[in-house]
Amino acid sequence: MSTRNNRLPAETYAAGILAGDRLLLSRAITLSESTLPSDQELSQEVLQQVLPHTGKSIRIGITGVPGVGKSSFIEVFGNYITSLPKKLAVLAIDPTSQISGGSIMGDKTRMETLSNHPLAFIRPSPAGNALGGVATHTRQALILCEAAGYEVIIIETVGVGQSETAVYHMTDFFLLLMLANAGDELQGMKRGIMEMADALVITKADGDNLNAAQTARVTYENALHLFPPSAKQWQPQALTCSAFTKAGIPEIWALVEKFYQHMQGKGLFDLHRQNQNLYWMHEIIKQTLEKQFYENTDVKRLLPNLQIDVQSGKITALSAALQLLNSLQKK
Ligand code: GDP
Repeated sequence: MSTRNNRLPAETYAAGILAGDRLLLSRAITLSESTLPSDQELSQEVLQQVLPHTGKSIRIGITGVPGVGKSSFIEVFGNYITSLPKKLAVLAIDPTSQISGGSIMGDKTRMETLSNHPLAFIRPSPAGNALGGVATHTRQALILCEAAGYEVIIIETVGVGQSETAVYHMTDFFLLLMLANAGDELQGMKRGIMEMADALVITKADGDNLNAAQTARVTYENALHLFPPSAKQWQPQALTCSAFTKAGIPEIWALVEKFYQHMQGKGLFDLHRQNQNLYWMHEIIKQTLEKQFYENTDVKRLLPNLQIDVQSGKITALSAALQLLNSLQKK
């Protein structure tokens, strides 16, 4: 049977998702990742139908360099959340899987006990060749999971590129995991990422590493006070945790709840999400225009020589850019 024949009517997906059917949820996510125009159309219909039932989860972004302990943390933190009990979905963005064909996240067995938990739904990184596309896929998966009644949605990303900015713009609470003994540079962290964080958690606070983790916590807590206040009007905090001893895990969840109450209390929660929706509308427009620009035949023809002219100083960057843009408008 061809994959096309496996498609169901939009109402069937929507009804299944709203009833919490995991299989139909998975299939609807797969559909939303398809590049076939007919699939895209069907997927948009499904999304439109479930949209009134979305928005009720708390969305948590988690980032940190490879090896910081993301999957170990999410396994333990996730098991804590499901024990509350709350339904939890974990989505992942792994930019390395698009670049190298391999994956920093994918090749180990990840979150084994969590993935077997009836209240947990884990979805690995979507396929795709551009971060823009992957971000769109992840946002659609998030909406579908919310419609299926997942109360907490974790979106995980490897903190090595632009993907953390995308995750920041699709979550309510942004959690940065850090190691105690590595300097900022070693952790590949840009200052910008720390500035986005609502909480910073020093991982592996156990055994011989406990003291170093506690010292690092104080250092980072002080550093966080130096950042200007964000639109969330929230003072970010630094915590420690261990995925091995489970120390600090309930405190991190308590902080998420405190944040949620703060945002709701100040009327900022919905406002923040509304602004995020606008952000994505403009992002999608920008990305689509850029793609159309570079795929245009006139631009393709003119670009190589103009690049050489700009590099050699024969013409200015502005004049080359205007020539290219004008060639587009002539159509
Ligand atoms: P990820 O690449 O960020 O997903 O990191 P992993 O969760 O795969 O962890 C990387 C390594 O750190 C593994 O060898 C883990 O066993 C180890 N690790 C993770 N969490 C802890 C922890 O809480 N304490 C200690 N001591 N080691 C940990």
